[in-house]
Amino acid sequence: MASEELNTGTNEEKPKNFLEEIIEADIKSEKHGGRVLTRFPPEPNGYLHIGHAKSICLNFGLAQKYGGKTNLRFDDTNPVKEDIEYVNSIKEDIQWLGFNWANEFYASDYFDQLYLWAEELIKKGYAYVDDQSQEEIRVNRGTVTQPGKESPWRDRSAEENLDLFRRMRAGEFKDGEKVLRAKIDMAHPNMLLRDPIMYRIIHSEHHRTGDKWCIYPMYDYAHGQSDSIENITHSICTLEFDVHRPLYDWFIEKLEIFPSKQYEFARLNLSYTVMSKRKLLQLVQEKVVMGWDDPRMPTICGLRRRGYTPEAIRYFADKVGVAKRDNVIDLSLLEFCLREDLNKRVERRMAVLNPLKVVITNYPENQSEELEAINNPEDESAGKRMIPFSREIYIEQEDFMENPPKKFFRLAPGKEVRLRYAYFIKCNDVIKDENGNIVELHCTYDPASRGGNSPDGRKVQGTIHWVSIPHAVKAEVRLFDRLFSNPDPNNVPEGVDWKSSLNPDSLKVIEGLIEPSLQNASVLDKFQFERIGYFCVDSDTTSKKLVFNRTATLKDTWAKIAGK
Ligand code: ATP
Ligand code: MG
Repeated sequence: MASEELNTGTNEEKPKNFLEEIIEADIKSEKHGGRVLTRFPPEPNGYLHIGHAKSICLNFGLAQKYGGKTNLRFDDTNPVKEDIEYVNSIKEDIQWLGFNWANEFYASDYFDQLYLWAEELIKKGYAYVDDQSQEEIRVNRGTVTQPGKESPWRDRSAEENLDLFRRMRAGEFKDGEKVLRAKIDMAHPNMLLRDPIMYRIIHSEHHRTGDKWCIYPMYDYAHGQSDSIENITHSICTLEFDVHRPLYDWFIEKLEIFPSKQYEFARLNLSYTVMSKRKLLQLVQEKVVMGWDDPRMPTICGLRRRGYTPEAIRYFADKVGVAKRDNVIDLSLLEFCLREDLNKRVERRMAVLNPLKVVITNYPENQSEELEAINNPEDESAGKRMIPFSREIYIEQEDFMENPPKKFFRLAPGKEVRLRYAYFIKCNDVIKDENGNIVELHCTYDPASRGGNSPDGRKVQGTIHWVSIPHAVKAEVRLFDRLFSNPDPNNVPEGVDWKSSLNPDSLKVIEGLIEPSLQNASVLDKFQFERIGYFCVDSDTTSKKLVFNRTATLKDTWAKIAGK
């Protein structure tokens, strides 16, 4: 497949988004010498999803655009939920999307430095050890309308704080017995600045640092300082972190370290989709789906297995743009981007999913021939292939009607259609079983119409696909649809299970009959089954059994349902 970027539709320059404006202004004013360094900071506690893909495309894309670089930093400050399995999958997914990081870092690499800076803040009187319980701390934080109450331990001397903090580190206290807090303002209108917790005690093995530490930094204390250690110029995160920004700046200012700056954009929300890692994990654990890479999951590995391409995802990320306000993007847009890409690039094949047998009574028995078929009408370089034809073929059940309405242009008694790349055939007899079910059709073909061309200028209005019965290969075909039938599965009324709006028809498994050239297709190979949709070879495929996933139908079948 060609790897060039999808044409985004127009040659006009797109208006700049606010992040591009900020970066261009910084370059112009020679802030940081015009240098641009972004980072993508996943927490290795789950698989990446399409929302992360948006963030990846943004962080790496901006750096690429302005001649900068991007670090991959694992935000592994919570030893309890994190795992190496996730680290590896995250790296694989970013590379698959087409991006390379300048450096692979771990927030845990900075634990020593962060610890030293915490001691520095204690010495400067900006941090103290608090003996209150989690619950007391929560209650004493006050509310949006009421100021908090200062801790009775707030005015400990620097010496005492230093001693206690060192003993916290040495493992003298149990989980939850003490925390280190920044000393800011218990009446601050921004609740996050009411003496936020910097360190808590967790006696737990860390996947990288083992049992070296039993105190772990909180996100707010670790993140900005990690940015600063790496000299990140533009630290881009999602909107819900805007209230954290004053704290981000406070630590950097008090420590007098490299002034990284945080900028927020609206996170990607998609209709018919849940993205929270907690919910995705639940779907996996409760076996609602086959795993993290189930083709119905919004995870990058799920999309990949489904048949999505990195180009389609990058195109989507670009089309979605960068917003400053939260919104929900229609899932149809993602599917549109996918079809745009696959239509241009994947080869066509013939497959019949609901077979109806057709006997061509005037075609010699025990004869077959090879007919030429075009691989991709959108791409001449894809060339041609040969497909076998014989006396017995399958067509799609829905391409025949015994009593058709006026506008039905496919096969019907006495009517003629074109078999794609083959011949004109005419239906003469409908054969039924004792229950009246149609079991096969008897047709005749016009040998002069070979290749599907009219021999005498006579017109047939319909062209249908087919496969030759003796040559057809059986394959398992998994017809995937949206996982949720509710456009907004994240907003269910109180007391209603968010899983209640799962789409009961999100997977149908059938046996399809495919043309023999697909026999040796490899996992992840993608095709358009003519007139049906886009399909991709699934990883469950073995030498004995081919499995295809339906990546997408040819048209948006949900638009009608949504009344568009
Ligand atoms: P969750 O809340 O589901 O656990 P998270 O946002 O905490 O997800 P992280 O691993 O911390 O997951 O995210 C890594 C980066 O990806 C962060 O910078 C985060 O802002 C960004 N990100 C996560 N979800 C989205 C989204 N839906 N749209 C855009 N960016 C996102
Ligand atoms: Mg997070």
